[in-house]
Amino acid sequence: MDAKKPRAAVDGLFTMDPEEPRLIGGKCSSCGSYFFPKFYQTHKPTCSNRGVEEVLLSRRGTLESFTVQHYPPPPPFVSPRPFVPYGLGLVALPEGINIIGIMTGIAVEDLKTGIEVELVLETLHQDEKGNDLLSWKFKPVD
Ligand SMILES: [Zn+2]
Repeated sequence: MDAKKPRAAVDGLFTMDPEEPRLIGGKCSSCGSYFFPKFYQTHKPTCSNRGVEEVLLSRRGTLESFTVQHYPPPPPFVSPRPFVPYGLGLVALPEGINIIGIMTGIAVEDLKTGIEVELVLETLHQDEKGNDLLSWKFKPVD
């Protein structure tokens, strides 16, 4: 039997550090704006030829806003079955950008803006061979 290996659901978006994963973003070499994902080089005409530096974004941020997903999103998204409603958060990072992520470690009825959250990696779904496919989620800081 093959060993099951967790891997990223999408390559290149985050580091695979199980303890302190980081999102891989970009920083404009001209104006200093941060991006996620990093592939966004033409945000301003005056910056378009200056390049984007790869940076690891902060792991902690503040929950700015959220919604609750009450039904399974359409493909290509894969939802756990049976489906359980989950929070989808908009998290403000110190870099001045907001990142959307699934909320974990908190009941949807306990979600509130202003709480400090940190990035974690969790299984999003499994591939056809049963390997866990990981994605980032945000978890309240204890
Ligand atoms: Zn720029």
